[in-house]
Amino acid sequence: MPNASGALAAQIDALLPQTQCTRCGYPDCAAYAQAIADGLAEINRCPPGGAEGIAQLAQLLHRPALPLDPECGTEGPRQLAVIDPAQCIGCTLCIQACPVDAIAGVAKRMHTVITPWCTGCALCLPPCPVDCIRMEALPDPRLAARTGWSAWSRALADEARQRYARHRERHARVLAAEAATEQTTPAEPIQTAVSSAKRKAALLQAAREKALQRRAITPEPPTKAAL
Ligand code: SF4
Ligand code: SF4
Ligand code: SF4
Repeated sequence: MPNASGALAAQIDALLPQTQCTRCGYPDCAAYAQAIADGLAEINRCPPGGAEGIAQLAQLLHRPALPLDPECGTEGPRQLAVIDPAQCIGCTLCIQACPVDAIAGVAKRMHTVITPWCTGCALCLPPCPVDCIRMEALPDPRLAARTGWSAWSRALADEARQRYARHRERHARVLAAEAATEQTTPAEPIQTAVSSAKRKAALLQAAREKALQRRAITPEPPTKAAL
């Protein structure tokens, strides 16, 4: 049973967009929600939620609404990731970086974005070694200029939360399997595979940290030009 802080964090998390984009400066929406609940973060750090999201948090917490913190970026139109098939080398790094499993593909084959699942978080861009992923406006011109919750919905947020939970569970299973493999004094080919997995994990962690650092420096959301 969650304590009072955990229960409040769950209520706050329910109001966050669940893109898991890290633009708030936390590793995911749940971590930001917990920081707000613990009094460690203000309510104005989520660009995807925008002004409406801040207003909802202010209402829940009986606080005044604040302008979006420019340190975290600006409220802009929702975007989708697109992969250039001519350049993709099938390295799979973007698949591992996508928090909601919105990229499909197998090693050494062209990858593609599952558009309805893409939250526009842009976390797949930094790890791509050939810079073949770009962010584009929504194809429907009626939606292309919409920002914040007018470009998003509770249903989409709930789906993204579930996909992120599954993504994390799978990642935890892979790590557990790797740890078990290490304990059994593996033969050479398995050692090579584990070493490769560790290298990929390190690359992704570095890319994620780079994205967080970039967002601490620039108020703009990541764009292809910026990356
Ligand atoms: S900025 Fe991104 S990770 Fe942070 S709460 Fe908003 S959607 Fe979630
Ligand atoms: S495909 Fe890229 S932009 Fe879309 S959700 Fe996945 S990581 Fe984010
Ligand atoms: S990271 Fe880039 S090159 Fe690698 S699979 Fe993804 S899109 Fe293709």
